[in-house]
Amino acid sequence: MHLTEKLKFGRFFPISIREADQAEVQLSVFESNVLLVVDDDHELRALIAEIGKRNGYSVLTAESGAVLKQLLADQHPSLVILDMQMGDMDGVEALRLLANIKCPAEIMLMSGMDQKVLATARQFGLSLGLNMRDTVHKPVSVRDIEASLQRHKGENAPLSREEFLRALSGFELSVRYQPVLQRTAQGMAINMVEALVRWEHPVRGTLYPDQFISMVDRENLMNELTDFVLNESLRQIGHWHRAGLKLGLAVNLAARTVRDLEFPDRLSRVMHEYAVSPEHLCFEVTETAVSSDLQLVMDSLARLRVKGVQLTLDDFGVGTSSLTQLYKLPYSCFKIDRSLIAEMSHSRQAHILVSALIDLGHTLSLGVCAEGIESEAVFTQLESMGCDQFQGKFLSEPLSAAEVEQFCQQWQSEQHPAARLLAG
Ligand code: C2E
Ligand code: MG
Ligand code: MG
Repeated sequence: MHLTEKLKFGRFFPISIREADQAEVQLSVFESNVLLVVDDDHELRALIAEIGKRNGYSVLTAESGAVLKQLLADQHPSLVILDMQMGDMDGVEALRLLANIKCPAEIMLMSGMDQKVLATARQFGLSLGLNMRDTVHKPVSVRDIEASLQRHKGENAPLSREEFLRALSGFELSVRYQPVLQRTAQGMAINMVEALVRWEHPVRGTLYPDQFISMVDRENLMNELTDFVLNESLRQIGHWHRAGLKLGLAVNLAARTVRDLEFPDRLSRVMHEYAVSPEHLCFEVTETAVSSDLQLVMDSLARLRVKGVQLTLDDFGVGTSSLTQLYKLPYSCFKIDRSLIAEMSHSRQAHILVSALIDLGHTLSLGVCAEGIESEAVFTQLESMGCDQFQGKFLSEPLSAAEVEQFCQQWQSEQHPAARLLAG
């Protein structure tokens, strides 16, 4: 029987060594859809390699632990099918090896041992931080392997314009709100939230903005995204205000929206629709968003300021920070980037720099917000440096609307550790 005919069947059929040799392919250096088959059984290795090729994968093969070690030094597979029993290395050792090099690939374990052993080994891989997927029981079903390879490809394919349009109309997008603690004349208060978009993808799970914003921008769909976030979050803020919860709202604006001359008018309409007045609204822009077309950006930001909304410079202190932006553009606040805040816990220099930035902000009459605060120690340091606004996991992760209401109640009744800390 010819190799391809054997492949049509749902079960593994023995194939000759010569056929197996034909099916094996050269090592390649592709990073996406690269399948690595690790098995000391020559025929099975060849069979899975062939299935991989048929499904559009570049295929690497390793027949021993020694070859696997060598191969991982300079190859980056996206999917590894790993036999649990090889002559010179067992599956557990192989998993340790993959964990040591922090292999990000998805890993499918394969064995003739009973399901329980496979499930335990899979659990072990997870405990090492590996990206464990389904297990494959021998004898191998071609159809199952094919389905797994197809699923892996689907989940790793670049996000498309069509998927995003479906997400918009199919309620897959949502807004989370991260509370911001603010120093006011009456003391510290939670009086603002930052809107952060999320995408609940039916196949890929929860997607974060860094995973899809660049595609949205490339596909010219940023207006759609911004309008969704604005509508959703202003509707929520309007609802909270009517219920007596007076929270301000910060919304992130992409470069494209900053340059969109029609945006201020669309904004006015939404604010009017939900009866939210501009002093409760703040837009966050990054330095890169305003780094070109300075005249256009100045006009656009000035129009927003004239409408009465606040502007914050986001992620300040990383990349090519331009100090002059702080006074040339009409900001009322800047946010010190979370990477710098994270370094405060172990770097004296970061500590000094953050303190100097807070003083600089105050000298320029700008509010200063620290984002990404993860510990009580860093929070206390920032508080004593005179920082004006505080945001980060130590206070709260981004929350759903219902969770924000609970959080505010918890804060009021000083059940939150930071609220207790401030109370005394
Ligand atoms: P950003 O505006 O600087 O938002 C802060 C990011 O830090 C958020 O990530 C938030 O979840 C995360 N974060 C909060 N607290 C902590 C902490 O204690 N530690 C650490 N390590 N991270 C923390 P997220 O939600 O993934 O958003 C990433 C970026 O995507 C945002 O950075 C913002 O630039 C952009 N973005 C988010 N939502 C929107 C949106 O609706 N429109 C646009 N254009 N951009 C958005
Ligand atoms: Mg932001
Ligand atoms: Mg930021």
